[in-house]
Amino acid sequence: SAMRDERIKKTKTVCTYCGVGCSFDVWTKDRKILKVEPQVESPANGISTCVKGKFGWDFVNSEERITKPLIREGDAFREAEWEEALELITSKFSHAKETYGPDSMSFISSSKCTNEESYLMQKLARGVIGTNNIDNCSRYCQTPATVGLFRTVGYGGDSGSITDIEMAELVLIVGSNTSESHPVIATRVKRSHKLNGQKLIVSDIRKNEMGERADLFIQPNPGTDIVWLQAITKYIVDKGWADKTFLENRVNGLQEYVASLKNYTMDYAAKITGIDKKVLISMANTIHEAKTTSVLWAMGVTQHLGGSDTSTAISNLLLITGNYSKPGAGSYPLRGHNNVQGASDFGSMPDRFPGYEPVADDDVRAKYEKAWGGEIPAEPGLNNHEMVAAIHDGNLKMMYLKGEDMGLVDSNLNYVHQAFEKLDFFVVQDLFLSKTAEFADVVLPASPSLEKEGTFTNTERRIQRLYQVLEPMGESKPDWEIIQNIANRLGADWNFEHPSEIMAEAASLSPLYAGVTYERLEGYKSLQWPVAADGTDSPLLFLDGFPFSDGKARLFPVEWTKPLEFDKEYDIHVNNGRLLEHFHEGNMTYRSEGITSKVPKTFLEVSPALAKERGLQDGTLVRLTSPYGSVKVECLITDRVRFKEVYLPMNARGESAINYLTSSYADNITDTPAYKEINVKLEVLRKK
Ligand code: SF4
Repeated sequence: SAMRDERIKKTKTVCTYCGVGCSFDVWTKDRKILKVEPQVESPANGISTCVKGKFGWDFVNSEERITKPLIREGDAFREAEWEEALELITSKFSHAKETYGPDSMSFISSSKCTNEESYLMQKLARGVIGTNNIDNCSRYCQTPATVGLFRTVGYGGDSGSITDIEMAELVLIVGSNTSESHPVIATRVKRSHKLNGQKLIVSDIRKNEMGERADLFIQPNPGTDIVWLQAITKYIVDKGWADKTFLENRVNGLQEYVASLKNYTMDYAAKITGIDKKVLISMANTIHEAKTTSVLWAMGVTQHLGGSDTSTAISNLLLITGNYSKPGAGSYPLRGHNNVQGASDFGSMPDRFPGYEPVADDDVRAKYEKAWGGEIPAEPGLNNHEMVAAIHDGNLKMMYLKGEDMGLVDSNLNYVHQAFEKLDFFVVQDLFLSKTAEFADVVLPASPSLEKEGTFTNTERRIQRLYQVLEPMGESKPDWEIIQNIANRLGADWNFEHPSEIMAEAASLSPLYAGVTYERLEGYKSLQWPVAADGTDSPLLFLDGFPFSDGKARLFPVEWTKPLEFDKEYDIHVNNGRLLEHFHEGNMTYRSEGITSKVPKTFLEVSPALAKERGLQDGTLVRLTSPYGSVKVECLITDRVRFKEVYLPMNARGESAINYLTSSYADNITDTPAYKEINVKLEVLRKK
């Protein structure tokens, strides 16, 4: 209206928190965020958001934002001009490249940054420096799921859309705390379950909200999901319930796969998982009876020694029962960060170019060498887990990391921090002086999602645009501008004036995004990859077959890997995961008053039985010690956890941070840390 204050603006953006990818209008007056308003046409969320998307934005205006480059002087940082910081970085980078070679350098991209920024980070590593040492934090979460899907169906993403989950007859959730980690997807399932008769089965070692709502909830022994998954699959095959037409026409490797299930009998599964055989049989029956099954899984599956194999077993079960390439069915590894899907999609992986084309493929490499100039090594680079080891070994001298708090979220923190101290030169680019930035030589001030343009890709492969809501604070800059500036100082000649031009380059090189343009993503429009040159996108994958040479999926035999064993004194199992209100390491949510007023700090969940045995109450301060380190945290007594299993939210910070306890053991295929396999001993430090 005419009365409306002209300073009030309404701008479309995409949530900066989880992989659901909610989009909404942000109302602002100057730098003040007035409200968040989801729209009916918001493709992933409609008119819903969760508490983080709605109230988690104060961090953007936090006084703790870094607004000028910082350069280390002894034990402290001093503010510097951009020119000085960038000159220092370029001279150090050039020196490292000439003295020790490109592979002495490493690059960490960010699942909080845009697709365009991930694209540029890997282009800097490969095209300008000449190394494949580039990774991102999907290595800490869903890379095992990507492997499980690559092995079986050929694309490492959700096979359908959130609407398919909603319309499934049966939803099976394995190792995902969906209502806290992906709240808006959980809301869809809750609604379908309550109103439309959708069946819900949940497997988790901790009784979470979805478990409480489920028709059937099982709590297997930690690290044994693959055993019941394979036993159920075998049972379905033995009963003659497999989808024969689907298997004949669309799947390879049936015989060999069925032979590999030989030992996975119901009796064996009951013994290993601790779940009654009758319950497992009723699960098999329910899956058989449902016309469509969608399986949702997350870190409870992937963060184990056998995370890739369990993910593979899920996909095998879906193939056997014909639950691919039809609405309401399929595989849904739920992506954690807002752009964890996109960070890998756009090539921030040591073995893949954008669109997952392999680095080792000569033709693909030649295509990128021609486009970018320079030579790209054929050998895949180091992943972030291997980078830490290579620093310890003296082979990796330099790291450029943006937007990830690796010094808090990687496992075995004491070991990671020692590595950071050994680096010759460490550049960290972030909003805040994170734990990781404390180890840096130069810290560069970046801009959050609200201060830039670009695209994010959510868990259902949906690419969405964000529009700039605010000017970058102080002298902070969007990550893509900083990367371009560094590349050009190192001799490149990049001239991107807007992220749309970066996307255009990616689309011209990667067939997966052939038809992606900013025009096709205008406003609330979105595209789900693969996107054909004419702009046709793919809400539901595999309708015309699987992306292998013969168009057929592959059953892939896998075996159970026993979880880590610990000495007897470490008698308590620690589980970890999210809280609804806080996000990961908490750099953003702990700086948002709307969130901290609700949940100011985290706690350790302890069962009533353990509380009784050890004399613990709400508020008792305990120390947990694993073979790798220790944490101090206050207890909360709850029946969500079982006797000798405790739960420490991963949002705990400082001396409560979970990763002082975790080890360097990792998934045997992807090096994803086995975060979920830790045992500790517990001591009481203060009664209350
Ligand atoms: Fe949506 Fe996830 Fe953001 Fe919540 S955190 S508003 S569910 S994208």
